Amino acid sequence: MRGPVKLVLASGNPGKLREIRMLLAPLAVEVVAQAELGIGEAEEPHDTFLENALAKARLAGRVSGLPALADDSGLCVPALGGEPGVHSAYYAGREGSREERDARNNAKLLERLGDERSAYYCCVMVLLWRADEPRPIVAEGVWRGEIARAPRGANGFGYDPLFLLPGHGLTAAELDADEKNRVSHRGLAAARLLALLRDADHA
Ligand code: IMP
Repeated sequence: MRGPVKLVLASGNPGKLREIRMLLAPLAVEVVAQAELGIGEAEEPHDTFLENALAKARLAGRVSGLPALADDSGLCVPALGGEPGVHSAYYAGREGSREERDARNNAKLLERLGDERSAYYCCVMVLLWRADEPRPIVAEGVWRGEIARAPRGANGFGYDPLFLLPGHGLTAAELDADEKNRVSHRGLAAARLLALLRDADHA
């Protein structure tokens, strides 16, 4: 990988930031959250995780002048036509604090679901060396599970109290951060990103 770098993380979500910082530890780079540089959240108007991740990384890269990493992610439920998908963060509206939104999102999901409860998380990570980078580095991860009948667990964030791991009987919110990172959509995307960075074509 290119010499010692400082990287801006294009997210204001504390749950994501915590997980991504742990996942990037092998890079030994200085990781700065965009809020620490006074950069607000980008619009995410697109229909794909990829386009939204690119938009976030470009904004953070342009304003900071630093290499930028973004993660756009969400929960996809086939029985709901893939919803909440790219609308996961604001599924039940934009009002209130992050915790209030998470609680409303989970309640809405439970209300909508019938007996078909399979679901998966998707995470697309984009790394831009420069804001006008012609070759974004892109990595995706998917984590399959089911939606529980009631929330359980206090770790993680967002839909984790409802996300049941297949064969475990545990929700993602019952895993500690290390365990979640080992198996999650974000953990897989980060592992793929790190592998791409080790690849001479992206170094
Ligand atoms: P983004 O900032 O638009 O990428 O929003 C991602 C949203 O998807 C979050 O606010 C959560 O609602 C949901 N989400 C993504 N990853 C996770 C996860 O690891 N656990 C729980 N919810 C997640």
